Amino acid sequence: MKWKNDAPYAVCLSHDVDRVKKQWYHYLVYGLKRPAVQFRSLLSKMEGNEPYWNFQKLVELEEMYDVKSTFFFLNESHKEMSANFMGRYDIKSMALQSIIRELDRRGFEIGLHGSYYSFNSEEILASEKRVLEGILGHQVVSTRQHHLNFDDKTTWQIHKKIGIKYDSTLGYSTKVGMEQPLRTVEGIVEIPITLMDTVNFTEDMYKECCQVAKDGGIIMLNFHQCHFNEIEYPDNVSIYTKFLAKAKNDGAWIMNVKEAGEWLDEQL
Ligand SMILES: [Zn+2]
Repeated sequence: MKWKNDAPYAVCLSHDVDRVKKQWYHYLVYGLKRPAVQFRSLLSKMEGNEPYWNFQKLVELEEMYDVKSTFFFLNESHKEMSANFMGRYDIKSMALQSIIRELDRRGFEIGLHGSYYSFNSEEILASEKRVLEGILGHQVVSTRQHHLNFDDKTTWQIHKKIGIKYDSTLGYSTKVGMEQPLRTVEGIVEIPITLMDTVNFTEDMYKECCQVAKDGGIIMLNFHQCHFNEIEYPDNVSIYTKFLAKAKNDGAWIMNVKEAGEWLDEQL
C-alpha cells in the first residue's frame, strides 16, 4: 500500500470515549481484584484528578509528537442495570460539549461512537450523529460501533445512508487484528482495528504489530480515553507512547481516521 510522502507504513490513532467519570461502584468492583491500585486511584481522585478524564494527557502527548488522533464520542441513550450501561455520560452536558469543541478547535477529529443498540438501527445512529454534529456545528464522517457490535447486512448500509464515510468497527478486543483497509460494497472505507488496549498485551502482540509495519500496512490503534491513566493502566500509557515513538522514528505517517479515510478513498 502506498502512503503519504512515501512513508514506509501508517499508524492511525483513535480513542473510544466510553466513560469520563469514575463512579463509586468502579472502585468496589475493581477493588476486589486489585485493592491497592484502587486505593491509590481513589486517593488521586480525592486530590482532584479524575481518573477517567484523560483528554489533556492525550492531547499533550500527541501534540508533543505533532499528531492529532480521532476521539469517538458515545451517546448512550439506553439505561439498563448492567455494566454495559452504568456510568455513561451525558454528551449534552456543558463539560462534554466544551471538551468536544475544544478538541475539534485544536484539530483533533471528533467521530461518532455508535451506542450499544445502534449498529442495526438507522434511527438511533442517525439521531446520535445529529446530536454530535449539533455540538460541533459541522459534519461527522468517521465512526466506530461501541463494543464492536456489527451486523454485516445492516451496519455499513446504515453508515452509508446517514453520511458516514469511514468506519473502524472490524477487529478484536482480545487479540491483534492483521486485516487491512477495504472498501465495502456500500462504499464505506473500513479501517480495521489492529490493537485495542483491552488485550492482555504481550511481546508477541508487539511483534505482530511490527509485522504490519514491515509489510507496509496501517496499524490502527484504539486506546480508550478513560483508561489512559498511569495508576490503573500503566501499560496502556507506555505501550501507546512506545508506538508513537517507534512510528516517528521510522518516518511512518501518523494520522487520524478521517485523514486515513480520505487518503484510502483515493487508493481503494
Ligand atoms: Zn466503546
